Amino acid sequence: MLQFTILNFEDWRSVARDLRCREICPADVQFLAPDESGLFCNAASSVISPSLPSNPTAFRVPKDFLTLAEDVGYHRAPERWGLLYRVLWRLTNHEPRLLQVATDDDMHRLLMMEKAVRRDAHKMKAFVRFREIIQNGEKHYIAWHRPDHFVLRKIAPFFSRRFKAMNWAILTQDESVAWNQRELKYFQGVNRSEAPSSDDLEDLWRTYYANIFNPARVKIKAMKTEMPVRHWSTLPETTIIDQMLKDAPARVADMIARSEGFDQSARDYMPDPSQPLTLPRLSDSIRQCRACELHCHATQAVFGHGPVDARIVIVGEQPGDQEDIEGKPFVGPAGEVLDHALAEAGIDRSQVYVTNTVKHFKFDRNGNQRLHKKPNSREVRACLPWFEAEWAMLDANTLICLGATAATALISPGFRLQQQRGCWVESKYTPRTIATWHPSFILRLPTQTQREIRMAELIADLRKTVRSE
Ligand code: SF4
Repeated sequence: MLQFTILNFEDWRSVARDLRCREICPADVQFLAPDESGLFCNAASSVISPSLPSNPTAFRVPKDFLTLAEDVGYHRAPERWGLLYRVLWRLTNHEPRLLQVATDDDMHRLLMMEKAVRRDAHKMKAFVRFREIIQNGEKHYIAWHRPDHFVLRKIAPFFSRRFKAMNWAILTQDESVAWNQRELKYFQGVNRSEAPSSDDLEDLWRTYYANIFNPARVKIKAMKTEMPVRHWSTLPETTIIDQMLKDAPARVADMIARSEGFDQSARDYMPDPSQPLTLPRLSDSIRQCRACELHCHATQAVFGHGPVDARIVIVGEQPGDQEDIEGKPFVGPAGEVLDHALAEAGIDRSQVYVTNTVKHFKFDRNGNQRLHKKPNSREVRACLPWFEAEWAMLDANTLICLGATAATALISPGFRLQQQRGCWVESKYTPRTIATWHPSFILRLPTQTQREIRMAELIADLRKTVRSE
């Protein structure tokens, strides 16, 4: 058994490349986690590299895997390096499409780790609070933070750009970093007690927080999840939360009165307009979309799927539980109903472009279950630019809206599905627009008879779109 001690992603990458070139299978390798207390004391790699048999084999790794592996490398789980090597081995041997199989146990674990790292990195960006100290007549800013994972090196470059003209340091329990307005220097982790705890900046933070505090979203449970209680002692603003909660109802009313016209939009996350726009570039960019909160809880954005020369575009409401995991629209139970209806209507699904109005799955948790939750109008509005960009890329002339969310978003806010279903209407996209039942609605109907009636109507509406072509 070969054993390696890995400090960071670069170490793992170099060892894994070596092992894979020599066709050493995962069962013959053990990746050891170094003693965590000493993990970052030494900036240099301390890989123990036993001599390996030489028989190099060339192989290629998808870029997406390297991006995923780099993020997973920041996770705290000691088994991450072995897991990454096993996935690398499977990918480069006989499972080249493994990255797309989110239900695979190894992939699922990796994606969960990646998600945990992204959330932790986001929290570090949000919850680091600097305190001012004067050293040799110069101002320095120091913050102590306790991340769940080893995300400091992922986030430090962000702080160096944001606070470029300041001398600052972020101390964590694992490792610390200092910026001297020129370069980042990493050093040993420190205890909370070694960081300064109060100064004039506290008032500044409180004022800032009071200004950004959104009373309409006050949910103490959610606040404790998003702003874990262990961070509260380092956050000056937590001392004013009680008062702000008392003032919240009045501020909500004020916000409603002032909210018209204030929204984030997916437009801010579109690909660089100087390059030609394509569906793959859009599908790449949507992964970065943060225009509404739905990205925080879903596994991934689910982009549309189908040929670029499709004449028919079918738009549902949002991905479901299975779509969220697999990253493709209409692959779960609703997808089965849609497939059946399309086949009955004589439409070849492989010739249709299928997508959703909102690209991230919105749900409520009930134990282990994730229950569909309807997106609100702000989320629909924020997400619409993705559909508009998809439509602009396609050569379609027929638009089929499944369900009320798609119909009101794409046809008109006053559209009434019960009354106008199955009728051709002109939308801003095409004069050949029609709305019909969403397959999930049919699945949720309580009786078999009701389901059969609505299914027949869905099939009849789909048939209209081929007959009148
Ligand atoms: S739901 Fe749409 S707008 Fe919201 S984050 Fe996802 S892709 Fe962006």
